[in-house]
Amino acid sequence: MENQQDSSRRKFIKQSAILTAAGMTISAMGGQVIAGITRPEEDIFKLPELPYAYDALEPHIDKMTMQIHHGKHHAGYATKLNEIFKGATGFDGAISLGMIFQTLSSISDDNSDPAHPSPYQVAIRNQGGGYYNHNMFWRLMKPNGGGSPTGKIAEVISASFDSFDNMKSKMNQAALNRFGSGWAWLVKDEAGKLQIGSTPNQDNPLMDICEFKGYPVLCLDVWEHAYYLKYQNKRADYLNAWWNLVNWDEVNRLYAEEIK
Ligand code: MN
Repeated sequence: MENQQDSSRRKFIKQSAILTAAGMTISAMGGQVIAGITRPEEDIFKLPELPYAYDALEPHIDKMTMQIHHGKHHAGYATKLNEIFKGATGFDGAISLGMIFQTLSSISDDNSDPAHPSPYQVAIRNQGGGYYNHNMFWRLMKPNGGGSPTGKIAEVISASFDSFDNMKSKMNQAALNRFGSGWAWLVKDEAGKLQIGSTPNQDNPLMDICEFKGYPVLCLDVWEHAYYLKYQNKRADYLNAWWNLVNWDEVNRLYAEEIK
């Protein structure tokens, strides 16, 4: 008899297959799928282009912050993640990063056998989380976004939090109360209800090691690198400005990816 955790893990794994289609993947691991052992020779994690210009989110997020955030921070996570996987064994071919997150605790941190080096669990958690979270974050913003939620997500927000104002204030609190670096999240649980929480560093709610779990539909970067040049220590001002950028179409798209 399977326990509830196994069952929910499988559901999330099925859902990650959809993320595969969305391009957040380790696609084909260098084109070879050999008995669960592949060694990609090329970079498999590409830095995605922003869906808008670096200055397009002005005045809410300034051009230089975007240039450094995307061109240096996000690029750095991609580079380091590629390096990890170039030495990795034990992964099947078409597996998504989201799937790996869901079984992260089972990935060995033991790299003591040079003939069969294991990818580091901590390295995938940090660099993989950093790569994946930023992929989502860029798409969840757009110039002239914000305003009230539209479509299905508007209904679900009302059902889950009574009102959009209430949801917004809960997410702001999660973002403000995150001590140090991390993210605030709106996630979908298995009943389709929305939950709000935060994670430290680059942890993602898909990770089985994460205390706050769920399927992410909206994320908010509260690392200082996301806002310090313009807002310095005033995280609350950054949060208020950020709500003017939310891409509700993308939130709806992520929410509509049914848990099967
Ligand atoms: Mn960031």
